[in-house]
Amino acid sequence: MVHLEGRCLCGAVTVSADAQKPMLRACHCDMCRRQNSSAFVSIATNPQSVEIDGPVKVYRSSEWAERGFCPECGSTLYYAALHDGVKQLAAGLFDNAGGAPLKLEFFVDRCPQGYAFAGDHKRLTTADTIALFAPKEGEDQ
Ligand SMILES: [Zn+2]
Repeated sequence: MVHLEGRCLCGAVTVSADAQKPMLRACHCDMCRRQNSSAFVSIATNPQSVEIDGPVKVYRSSEWAERGFCPECGSTLYYAALHDGVKQLAAGLFDNAGGAPLKLEFFVDRCPQGYAFAGDHKRLTTADTIALFAPKEGEDQ
């Protein structure tokens, strides 16, 4: 188990979480890129262990998700799907991105042509990503 402690740019918000084996995921969707300039890179942590202290402003970015940010400095804090409320913390809050390796890219076909993430990890297209998160038939949302 790894204990991670991070903070926003101005330090008004501090975050902490535990992770069995921290790993990074990058999302290239249009909303993440518009908010974060490039891909939104989040770190996978134990959801129940996430603690956020300080002022947080929440922006409801779609019918299914919201995004938390620091109202003082604007740092991205997390992405959370409304159906489970799990906060996917921004990797940039942690020194060296928590020392975690990049394991997954979402919406990789939405990545601008001018750059790409190197490395041998899983890359999901828009269709792959939607299939992964769409509710299965007969399942409650
Ligand atoms: Zn801040």
